[in-house]
Parts: sequence; C-alpha cells; structure tokens
Amino acid sequence: MTENKRFRSILLFGPPGVGKGTQGKILGSVPGFFHLSVGDVFRSIDIGSPEGKEVCAFTSQGKLVPDELTIRIWKKALDAYVALSWFKPREDLLVLDGIPRNVAQTSLINDNIDIRHVVHISCSDEEDMIHRLRRRAIRENRADDANEEVIRRRFDIYREQSKPVLDCYPPELISHVEASGSPAEVLSAILKALIPIQNEHFKNED
Ligand code: AMP
Repeated sequence: MTENKRFRSILLFGPPGVGKGTQGKILGSVPGFFHLSVGDVFRSIDIGSPEGKEVCAFTSQGKLVPDELTIRIWKKALDAYVALSWFKPREDLLVLDGIPRNVAQTSLINDNIDIRHVVHISCSDEEDMIHRLRRRAIRENRADDANEEVIRRRFDIYREQSKPVLDCYPPELISHVEASGSPAEVLSAILKALIPIQNEHFKNED
C-alpha cells in the first residue's frame, strides 16, 4: 500500500448473480466513488502467467482463491489505481466488491480499509439467480458460471464462508436491499443508503 492510511470504503455485499458488479460499475461512474471488484481484477490477470494460472485453478472451480494470494493481488491493484490517481483516497469512497469474502479477510484488510457502510443486496430466489448467472456466462464468456455444478458450489461457499462476514459489522452499518426490483429500483435503494455516507465523507475531507 502506498500510504499508511485506511481508505474510507463502502462494501457491496451479496451472493453471486445479485447484481453487485452492475451496481458497483454504475456507482463507480458517480464522482466521489471508486469501484474495485476483486473478481474483475482476477479476470484481468494474464492466465498464462504463474499467478494467473494459480488464480484460475480456483476461480474456474467456483472456489475461493487462497487469502494470501487474494490480498496480495488486490493490494497490488489498489496501489496501482492510487498511483495512477484513478482512485483518489481523499476525494473518493472506495466501493469494495467481492472482498472481504470470508471472516479471515475482514481482519486481513482491516489495516488498509475503514468500512463506513455495508450494502447487502439479497435475493430469496436462488433459482432465479442461477438463471441470471447462466445468462451472464453466455453473454460475458465466464467459464465459472457456465457450469451448474460450479454455480451451486459458489452458492454453497457464499452461505458457508461469505455470509458470516455480515456478522462482523454492527447492524446499524448495514443496509439491506432487495435484488428482485428493476436495476433502477435497486440503484435507487443503494443511493438512498449511500448519499448520507458520501455527504459525511465530503464534510470530513482532509
Ligand atoms: P466474482 O466476480 O466476485 O463473483 O468473483 C469470481 C471468482 O473470483 C470467485 O468465484 C472466486 O473464485 C474469486 N474471488 C473473488 N473475490 C474473492 C475473494 N475475496 N477471495 C477469494 N476468492 C475470490
């Protein structure tokens, strides 16, 4: 990390296929937010490189990439975006998407990340999300979501390892947003939760 400083952050949280990436990208286009998806970082690595091969061995199976490797790659990406001034920590709230994904990662990112709010996007209809993931897999050529067994493993891992992350944050820090609305409706609920957080951030800019 380039600065010994904790970045003010928002966590977009929820199961696979719930629209975190779509909403995160939209949010990232609003001045004052910078969206960083670990899944996107992993997909951008050259799969012929040793690091890329190692990552792909897990992502293609729908399994979590080991914590040490995940944190190392994620910090490298974050450092690069700070160095390029794409992410300006004094001005922008960092929108985390895909990390922390287990309880151990909540501590591992703690030195660098100050979570100001958690937006939990939830969906009670797992079959609907599986359907969405398969459609996206075709559209975006994503190997992990083309195979039903891999998708189901991603959900099992979410339930067993990721969902407990929510218990690491105080309930008053968490907004729950239902994913089944239209994308504009979901966006509106997310913005409603985040506008006060951004206003506070602008007040406290140093
Ligand atoms: P996503 O695009 O967020 O669904 O992530 C795609 C895949 O990348 C996941 O199924 C995991 O294999 C891997 N991945 C993403 N974020 C993490 C993380 N924080 N820890 C470990 N593996 C991750």
